[in-house]
Formats: sequence, structure tokens, C-alpha cells
Amino acid sequence: MIRIGFGKPLLVGLLLLLPVVLDSYTIHVAILIMLFAIVAVGLSLVMGFGGQVNLAQAAFFGTGAYASALLSTTYGWNPWLAAPVAVLTTCAVALTVAIPALRLQSHYLGIVSLGLALAFSSLLSNSDLTGGASGISKVPPLALPGLDLSGPRDYYYLVAIALILVVGFALFVGNTTLGRRFKAMRDDVLAAAASGIEIRYYRLMAFLLAGLVGGVAGVLYAHNARYVSPDTFGLGVMFLLLAMVIIGGQDSVWGAVVGAVLLITARNLLTGIQTYQQLVYGGLIVATVVFAPRGLAGAAADLRRRLNLPWPSILIPWLTRPGLPPPARLKVAPPAPEGLALRVDSVSKRFKGLHALAGVSLEVGAGEIHGIIGPNGSGKTTLFNVISGIYRPNSGRVFVWGRDVTGQRSFRMSRLGVARTFQNLRLFRQLTVLENVMVALDRDPAQAHIRYLIAPWVVVRNERARRARALRLLEDFDLHQVADELAVNLAYGRQRRLEIGRALAAEPTILLLDEPAAGLNAAEQEGLKATIRKIRGAGVTVVVIEHNMNLVMNVCERLTVFGHGKVIAAGTPREVASNPVVIEAYLGQGTPEAAAL
Ligand code: ADP
Ligand code: MG
Repeated sequence: MIRIGFGKPLLVGLLLLLPVVLDSYTIHVAILIMLFAIVAVGLSLVMGFGGQVNLAQAAFFGTGAYASALLSTTYGWNPWLAAPVAVLTTCAVALTVAIPALRLQSHYLGIVSLGLALAFSSLLSNSDLTGGASGISKVPPLALPGLDLSGPRDYYYLVAIALILVVGFALFVGNTTLGRRFKAMRDDVLAAAASGIEIRYYRLMAFLLAGLVGGVAGVLYAHNARYVSPDTFGLGVMFLLLAMVIIGGQDSVWGAVVGAVLLITARNLLTGIQTYQQLVYGGLIVATVVFAPRGLAGAAADLRRRLNLPWPSILIPWLTRPGLPPPARLKVAPPAPEGLALRVDSVSKRFKGLHALAGVSLEVGAGEIHGIIGPNGSGKTTLFNVISGIYRPNSGRVFVWGRDVTGQRSFRMSRLGVARTFQNLRLFRQLTVLENVMVALDRDPAQAHIRYLIAPWVVVRNERARRARALRLLEDFDLHQVADELAVNLAYGRQRRLEIGRALAAEPTILLLDEPAAGLNAAEQEGLKATIRKIRGAGVTVVVIEHNMNLVMNVCERLTVFGHGKVIAAGTPREVASNPVVIEAYLGQGTPEAAAL
């Protein structure tokens, strides 16, 4: 693993030696490639990692460039002062563009960000301040003692250093907790929130990083070209950036860099046939989407997997070096408080005219395994959604360990010790098994990411500790052999197991399981029973929705029976089984449970 890591220092060496052999025109092209690589890395952070469709990346690039140009010409600022202010301005613009992302997603967000980018373009072309269509010229060069930053050779090094820093930072983010949270949010937003991720914050954060990186590239562009004009940051450039990221591979930092190299080179070769440029990019995008949907980086990763070569990385061997002593096993919960774990008091939830829950009350004692049964559509999952903060009830209250948690958001419920699984599996599909668990294991609040700037070594240390703990947990679930598989590639039974493992990784005091036995074979069901008992043995209170009567009757100590959004019976399994109301409800419905009762 370590040996493969030499590739990157070699690449950096090559990058730094290039200007020695290149003529000044080629150096100029190389600078442009590196600047676009920086902007594209920003786009892959927000879109590839964060899953936020951002069609305003070219506008971020433009904001940085225009702000620095304007401040250092019209306002006469020193370029070194104008530069950071321009970057901060871009960050502020990026946060503004992110506001719609708090409500809108996917193509809606794409359209809104595109609209904002168009507004930006037309502002640049029409405002007197920005020089209208002719732009701003005579932008002063950046000056450093001993260097000639007005010429391409020395400027090349400045941009190369920026590129190395940006790529290094993006790789660091991508391979550690922040990037993992971005990807979790991208893969499944509900499961991410249920794992304790504050979605809004991370959406803003993804845009902020894209803005930061785009702003840096913009500033470097303005003081190199010494001239900025609207068409440099318009839709054509946005399309080019999208093509870079899609062709390179959306969630790959290297992919974005390779995409920039390929497309800027192609653009230079195609200057003679301008009419066909966009057509060629479009053709390349279509070909990528059809033949390598995860881009060149994805295709390379698949090839490596097929040839059984490890993925090269400087970071991963460093992170996986055995560090801290392994923690104790399956000690998931802090000692649970006494009393009622969960109390639901007259909760109602309506969807338009439908009463999914109509005054449901229920109590779950500390350390209990509590079953919830009832026909399909009787409101069981809705109750879990209310308890775990996905829905706010129309009326009624929910108490966890005596504390009123009604209407708390999903990530907060996770942090209050309530973990859940979903009826229809919701794994982070494009994360590995290990990463799925690590997402939930990571209990750091969002503010802790300041460490990326002030104490990156702490990020690394935590990462190692978490990796060790996640591997331990996977051993408990007999998933350690597939730790590095993508979750989406696991067999169904293992996916179900992983989802429970991930829920436990959050160290809950209350675990909500929604039909965990669905689709499992007989042996897997036996395993599940043992797992549920073991989890309770570790001090976790378990509430399980299940249709499988064998499991319910054998594992649960108390049952609540739902019918049409109401509790129709409650008690021990034996009491419930002989309750005429229950028998009536089930026989009336003809559900599979009826046979078991
Ligand atoms: P169960 O888990 O017991 O099968 P659910 O809680 O999933 O039942 O659903 C209860 C009722 O609420 C069903 O009629 C279902 O269609 C309805 N329902 C659940 N979620 C929604 C939603 N988001 N919008 C509209 N109706 C919903
Ligand atoms: Mg359900």
C-alpha cells in the first residue's frame, strides 16, 4: 500500500518540473488547466460528494475574479488585500446560492442555481461597475519580492501550489469524516439525518467549500489574465465544468483534475472549429454516461477491483495504521437510565384527509424488547417516523427517558439516543460497509469540523480510532470480511444486518427496528433473534415492528397491536394472542399473522 503511494510525490515533482521544458504558450495553457482543475474540484465537492446540483460554479469562479479585479483597479486596493476579500465575497455568494438548497433538491435545485448563474452573467454584461460586455482590463499582477508574477513561469508555480493545496485538502476531506457525511447525505438523506447528520448545515457547507475553491481560482485567474470579461464565466464555461466532473467521475478529486486536463486540452485543439465545440463536449458526456456512468475514475476503480489491485492512496494507509487500543466489544449503550424509555401520548398524524395515527399512546419500559404488530397501513411505520423526528405529529407528545422530544428534528433524535432502521432498506449505497458504520459512529457535532483548519491531526487521530471501532462492530455482525465492499453490492441479508449495525454504531439507548425480518431466510431470522437479544443484553431498549409471528412471540416481552391508526390491544404476547379484538382484526384482514395467533 505504502509503495503505491509514491505515485503522488512523482506527480507533484513532474508538475513542478514542467515549466523547465515548456514554452511560454504551453505554460499559459497549463496554468489555465490548473485553474480549471481547481474550480472543477470545487464542483466535485459540492455535487459529487455533497449531491447538491450546483450549476452556479462558473459564477463562483467569476465572482472571485471580478471581485479581485474590481477592488484592485477601480478601488485601487493592493492585490494581496483584494484577493482574500474576493475569496470571502465568493464564499458569501455561495452561501446565498445555497439557501434554496435547504428546501429544494436535484433538478429543482439545478434550475434555481442555473437561474442565479444567468442573473449573475447578465449583471456582469449590463452593469457599468463591471465594465459591461467589455469587462475590466489592466488588472494589476500579484507581486512577491524576488518573483516575477507578471510572467507565466513564476505564476505557474503559484497556481501549481494552489492546485496541490486544493487537491490535498479535497482528498483529505473526501477520505475523512466531513466527506463521508457529505456522501451519506448524497446517498440517502433520511438515513443520514437518522444517523445524526444535520443536513441543512452540510448542504450549506458543501456550497461554501465550492465557493471557497471557486473564489481562489477566480482570483488567480484575474491576476494572471489581467483582464476579466463576462463570457469567461458564462454558461459555456459552466457546461465545460460539468463535462469535466462528469467525464472525470463525479465523486473523485482526481477525476475532476483529469477531466480538466482532457477538456481544456480538447478546447485548445478545437479552437479552429468553435461551432462544434459544445457538440463535442456533449458527445463526450453522453458517451461517458452510457459507457462509464461513474466517469473515468469509476471505470479505473472497477478495473482495479477486477484486477484485484488496491486503490492507490497516500491517505488511506496512513489512516489505517493501527493506532489506538481496540475498544471493548458491543458495549453500545451508556448505562440506560431507569424508568420508561419511551412514552407516546395520544399522538395523531394526518396526511391530508387520512388519519395515519389517531391518538396513539404507548409505553416502553427501560431495557424492554417491545413488539408492534398490525396489518399493513395501520400506522406502524408512521409512528416510528414521528418518534424519530421525520414527521412532526399533528397532536400528542413523545417522551424519551422522560424528556419531551415532540417535534425534534431527526438528527437531534439520533443524538438523543434514538436510532432506527427503515422498512425499505436505506443504506448509504455508494459507501463501503465500513464507511456506513463509521458515519453513524461519528458523534462529533458539526462545529468540530473547524479542526480541518486548526488541528487536522486530530481529524486523523479520530479517524483511526473510529476505523478500529467500526471494524470491531462489524465483527460482531459478522460483516468484517466485506468491510471494504460497497454497501450496494452486498447480498440482501447482509444489507439488513448492516443497517442494524449502522444503527447500533450511533450508540443508541433506544433502537427502533422496522420489519427487520422481512425478506430474510429461516437461518437469517434465527440470527436476527439472537442479535436482538444481544443488543438488549448490551443495555439497549428495542422496539420492533414485525409481521413474523415466530420472532414476535419468541423475542418480544410486550406487544402493542395497531389497527387503522389506533392501538387496539397491548400486553404480553400471550395476552395479545388470546385477545378477541386482535383475533377479530386479524381474521377480518386475513393477514399472515392470523395463522400464527
Ligand atoms: P404500516 O407501517 O403499518 O404498514 P404506514 O405507517 O406506513 O403503515 O402507513 C399508514 C398509512 O399512512 C397508510 O395508509 C399510508 O398510505 C399512509 N401514509 C404513510 N406515509 C404517508 C405520507 N408520507 N403521505 C401520505 N400518506 C402516508
Ligand atoms: Mg410499515
